[in-house]
Amino acid sequence: MSPELQLDSHGRLRHLLTLEGLDAGLLTEILDTAEEFDKTLRGPEKKLPLLRGRTIINLFFEPSTRTRTTFELAAKRLSADVLNLQMAASSTSKGETLFDTLKTLEAMQADMFVVRHEASGAAHFFAQHAAPGVSILNAGDGRHAHPTQGLLDLFTIRRYKSGAGRPGPDCFRKLRVAIVGDVLHSRVARSDIHGLRALGTTDIRVVAPPTLIPAGIEQMGVRVCHRIDEGLDGVDVVILLRLQKERMLGAYLPSMSEFHRDFGLTRKRIEALRRDAIIMHPGPINRGVEIEGDMAYGPQSLILQQVQHGIAVRMAVMAMILGPPQRRAADGRRGLRRARSAA
Ligand code: ASP
Repeated sequence: MSPELQLDSHGRLRHLLTLEGLDAGLLTEILDTAEEFDKTLRGPEKKLPLLRGRTIINLFFEPSTRTRTTFELAAKRLSADVLNLQMAASSTSKGETLFDTLKTLEAMQADMFVVRHEASGAAHFFAQHAAPGVSILNAGDGRHAHPTQGLLDLFTIRRYKSGAGRPGPDCFRKLRVAIVGDVLHSRVARSDIHGLRALGTTDIRVVAPPTLIPAGIEQMGVRVCHRIDEGLDGVDVVILLRLQKERMLGAYLPSMSEFHRDFGLTRKRIEALRRDAIIMHPGPINRGVEIEGDMAYGPQSLILQQVQHGIAVRMAVMAMILGPPQRRAADGRRGLRRARSAA
């Protein structure tokens, strides 16, 4: 799947399909923009007029709680008109193709589609066929990518791991990160790894039984650990992944309780972490499986902060793609500089 599809000729974001191929400059710009929006969201007037008159359609072919609602809220905070389509109740269930669904909704003059689909590559398909001026945001495609989750994870890590003041360029370089659980089926793991690698993190461990590790994942620049104590040793960040039961066609695990025993974040394992280590999970949590039930919102957990950061991050992406030109200008100039230095 071509990552270039998502940038225009000036290096600006046109679609957001994957974090693969986005460089540190652009990722940092998205995170900085999200910081600005996060400030606004904490103030009394949470709504900005940046996308007034724009139409954004949420097309969710798979269930979602956090991602759909935070995309909707983000669009509303930017004053866009938002439509939420329940695709199970739409014409696709009568056999309409994805292409015809896209063209039908484009005819209503939508500016952006936020797409979640169980097929890896669905968002790329929409982007390849979208009319000029129509943008696609990938809200999760199969086990491939979940770029806004990756961005909100980076935002959360940067916020809590950069010490006081503005995050410096070194913030990500020194981190030790463990990604624990169902790496095989996880689009979140892939997006997190692409983002962390682009920002300079070199110590990334993926921690799971062999059945839940995809072949060749080392080529993404991570270390595979099949023992959790080795994987968690000295880490600054623990990212837990949900067991994706809906994507498991065969038997990957003896049982949930054995997974919890061998790979779950138990109270004992949390107590053995560094005191300043942070714990994240994209949700929904299987309590008592990925993490001991009553530890989910413990003092080191940032799981609810991740949800909150999702709004600012999604506002940033929408505004950088659809916002007024002055909001996109800096991005374009940096994109040009990047393109020139790469030439
Ligand atoms: N909500 C995330 C996703 O859609 C994580 C998960 O479902 O496990 O990929």
